[in-house]
Amino acid sequence: MAGITPTLSVPEPRRFLSLPEENREALCAARTLAALALLFSVAGCRPSTPAIHTFSTIQMDTVVEVTLVDTDSTHARTLADEVFAIFARVEAEMSRYQESSTVSTLNARAGQAAWTPISPGLEAVLRESLRIAELSNGAFDPTLAEVNRLWSFDEGGRLPEPAALAAAVSHAGWRLLQVDSGRARLTRAGCGVDLGGIAKGYAVDAGADLLVSRGVSGAIVNAGGDMRLIGHRPDGGPWRIGVQHPRDPDGLLEVIRATDCAVVSSGDYERYFMVDGVRYHHIIDPHSGFPAMGCQGVTVVAERAMTADGLATAAFVLGPEAGLDLLRRAGARDALIVDAGGTVHRLAEATAAVSATKGGDKATP
Ligand code: ADP
Ligand code: MG
Repeated sequence: MAGITPTLSVPEPRRFLSLPEENREALCAARTLAALALLFSVAGCRPSTPAIHTFSTIQMDTVVEVTLVDTDSTHARTLADEVFAIFARVEAEMSRYQESSTVSTLNARAGQAAWTPISPGLEAVLRESLRIAELSNGAFDPTLAEVNRLWSFDEGGRLPEPAALAAAVSHAGWRLLQVDSGRARLTRAGCGVDLGGIAKGYAVDAGADLLVSRGVSGAIVNAGGDMRLIGHRPDGGPWRIGVQHPRDPDGLLEVIRATDCAVVSSGDYERYFMVDGVRYHHIIDPHSGFPAMGCQGVTVVAERAMTADGLATAAFVLGPEAGLDLLRRAGARDALIVDAGGTVHRLAEATAAVSATKGGDKATP
């Protein structure tokens, strides 16, 4: 990704694509699945001219990148640091890996009558998780902590022991998560909340909302391919997001021109391992406890990154047909689904609207 300190361990080094020199565009590769922001480089401009400044760090187990249009790089750095601080707060509260997080407290009390106090932010994430769980008929399930722990994708992944996996699946279920005003609880022991499919989107929204409140003219907040686009590039044009091909790290499915929206992707090529030719990846079908096999990648364009994040995961689990149906019902602006065979499906109703905003400048890697 553009702007990443070379010494950092970046999960997907191949996300860097070289761009044509003539446009002097820097390719800001998004993570795993999906996305690359094609940023107009303004090297050589005077300091008072709005320029693009890019800052990145590793948070929430992914590369978080803040791109800002600003006349002053020091001011831009300050804003980026504020966004990174938001990510740190969200992670400290919502990570199931951090023992001191609210989510860990909630999980430790599973099956007990006691409620766990939650912040308005966590309440919003839990409520949106339950809304998408219901809308997707349980394809999105925020209570897969134990199932996900057995797959250990955070440590490279391994095949779970079948009996343990079956037990974990039987203990999970989004209806076991109760959310009340300012508090939550899990009504079955062995059930645990894992917000890996939605919390990054929430953090992206929180960071983007902060930048909007600071009056920035243009920005991208990108957490490993979960993005919010704000305003415009220095030349007044929209941002251009390249959607990465799930099976070709150097290829783009297409380039979307957009602004003031979220573009979020979920894919099977970020975290996976292979056994006997089978790809085991980190998006789990809650009904079986095994990785969902109907898609290679899903990209969703919507107003908010939190919603797009949850919907992309849910659509991935549902597969192309039911996935597009969900996205249509949920009011997504646009979506691309690459099915297991590599065929690209589009959210039909949104196609016309998106075509109208797309440029004819499809990037060629
Ligand atoms: P990424 O984290 O790469 O952006 P996703 O947004 O699709 O990808 O989230 C995948 C993560 O969501 C998993 O690592 C796990 O923590 C969690 N997860 C896996 N399967 C589901 C599911 N069916 N519903 C909700 N969350 C899930
Ligand atoms: Mg997601």
